[in-house]
Amino acid sequence: MVVRGGFSIPVTFLDTDLLFPETYALVEQVEQHYGIIVQRQRPALSMPEQDQQEGPALYERNPDRCCTLRKVLPLHDALQPYQAWITGLRRDQSEQRSDTHLLQWSNRYQRVKLAPLAFWSEQQVWDYINRHDVPYNSLLGQGYRSIGCTHCTSLPATDAPRSGRWVGFAKTECGIHL
Ligand code: SF4
Repeated sequence: MVVRGGFSIPVTFLDTDLLFPETYALVEQVEQHYGIIVQRQRPALSMPEQDQQEGPALYERNPDRCCTLRKVLPLHDALQPYQAWITGLRRDQSEQRSDTHLLQWSNRYQRVKLAPLAFWSEQQVWDYINRHDVPYNSLLGQGYRSIGCTHCTSLPATDAPRSGRWVGFAKTECGIHL
């Protein structure tokens, strides 16, 4: 939508170093398809550095801490030059996201957050993808409906789209939208 609208808005993704090969392939596909550079925001710590500082397999022991290091803080860094950001958050993704507004103030990042798809259904997203030939993650064709890091993403356990995230933990959000 950004490219089709002719807006020169930087596109960024949080590269935790733990994403699926299909996700990294999608980023390259998006760059080629739209002729843009997708900015990769990396954590301050490499995985070996994190293992050394926090102990191995932090995601198995304290996923909130792991997400803070690999997602929440990197987004803080990525947003420094900007006053606002746009996200693909939707109300139908989970109960926790059911009060998503088109325009919100993020206390966490002290910035305006826009969610233009807030009221879209999953079907509307697929209709848009098919109508406009939008590249998408091939894992969606294998039954995944919400895709994050390899260690914390499974096939959905229920009809809830995000039920495959952080299975075995009460955790439902990485933290960037809290
Ligand atoms: S989703 Fe899992 S592996 Fe990825 S940053 Fe969060 S806890 Fe770590």
